Amino acid sequence: MKADSNRREFLKTCSAFCAGCAFFLHPRRITAGDDEEVKPEKAPNPDEHTHCGYQCSEECKLFKATVNNDMTLKKEAYQEWKMKERYGIEFDPEQVFCYGCKADDKPMSITLQKCTVRHCAKGKGLEACFQCKDLKTCDMELWKRFSDFKKNVIGMQEKYMTLGENELK
Ligand code: SF4
Ligand code: SF4
Repeated sequence: MKADSNRREFLKTCSAFCAGCAFFLHPRRITAGDDEEVKPEKAPNPDEHTHCGYQCSEECKLFKATVNNDMTLKKEAYQEWKMKERYGIEFDPEQVFCYGCKADDKPMSITLQKCTVRHCAKGKGLEACFQCKDLKTCDMELWKRFSDFKKNVIGMQEKYMTLGENELK
């Protein structure tokens, strides 16, 4: 029951987090519910997370629209993500796309260009913020706006250190 309520809370947080990144409208479950197999806990792998600590989902509308070059989905994503209000762009299929937070070999979408957390983590040479010694005190806008998500990432950091015996950088 506790796991289920944690999961609901996490999904709620992620849905709100779309203001930081389009992916957060389509969160991947990271806590086990009644219908999921409970696996032994292990340290999170930074390579399997985005720079802020999220895990992108292939269910993401914008990602699907991008790889399939689907105009209808792109228009839906443009409206749902409120790109005009957030980024001041008119609908343009060339600008409405995203290949993911770490697809460095692909063109960079506006959501990634505007992400200060991604920029900072990359600048420090970190794959994920839970590797960062400054996470707890970091006052990036993303964390301020989504404090529950930050708590979740701090929880990942604890597992990263204790279960994985990793040191922060
Ligand atoms: S680091 Fe920024 S661009 Fe990457 S997933 Fe997180 S919010 Fe999105
Ligand atoms: S200071 Fe650390 S926690 Fe904050 S955004 Fe940069 S890498 Fe992430």
